[in-house]
Amino acid sequence: MRRKLAAGNWKMNGTGAALPEITAISQAHGDAAVDVLICPPATLLHRVSETADGAIATGGQDCHAADSGAHTGDISAAMLAETGATYVILGHSERRQDHGESDLEVREKARAAMQAGLKTIICVGESLDEREASNTLDIIAGQLAGSVPDTVTGESLVIAYEPIWAIGTGKTPTLDQIGEVHDFIRAELERRFGAGVGRSTRILYGGSVKPGNAGEIFAVSNVDGALVGGASLKAEDFSPVVEALE
Ligand code: PGA
Repeated sequence: MRRKLAAGNWKMNGTGAALPEITAISQAHGDAAVDVLICPPATLLHRVSETADGAIATGGQDCHAADSGAHTGDISAAMLAETGATYVILGHSERRQDHGESDLEVREKARAAMQAGLKTIICVGESLDEREASNTLDIIAGQLAGSVPDTVTGESLVIAYEPIWAIGTGKTPTLDQIGEVHDFIRAELERRFGAGVGRSTRILYGGSVKPGNAGEIFAVSNVDGALVGGASLKAEDFSPVVEALE
């Protein structure tokens, strides 16, 4: 009942020279049995949306909580939507770290994004210190409670579990550890929003997903797809990840 999602997060990578990768991903997966999404830098979003031409979805990596106004350098959810984007990533740990984004700010951004009709991927995840202190589930519970708005639908909300220590490091949690957190997130969503939203919300795993480990990660319970950084930049790396999900 949950449609799986392979999402690529290009972060601050990609210029016009990268558009052939979008062409290749669109051609390979335009009729995929799973949702395929690329979130390029904002400067490329319009061109990526045009190049993809609906074959795959596109999304932003952040948005402002306000509709418009005196916010130099920021981009509103409606502006993202106008480029053809249908998703936005919010509360990525790099934004929480680099820009001091709090749970409350993420929640307000998510509310604005949903109001603009964007599907919203809210990221949560523990640091290595927090995991070693056995605080992972408490941290995740706090981030979910703080970052996810009170009014959501299962279609508009996606949660990405991204352990900070696994991002860009080549390290991943064990499959049992991934399963434990995904089952916990599912239970938290069901408890807060009821069975409808709780069961229809997709939960992605992110952190060093690559062709070599995607298959085993996707077999874990309550893993509905992946948020992929480094391995989403090239079609030759991203395609096997998409295929592992199909
Ligand atoms: P990575 O990044 O796949 O390069 O580890 C994942 C992410 O930060 O979304």
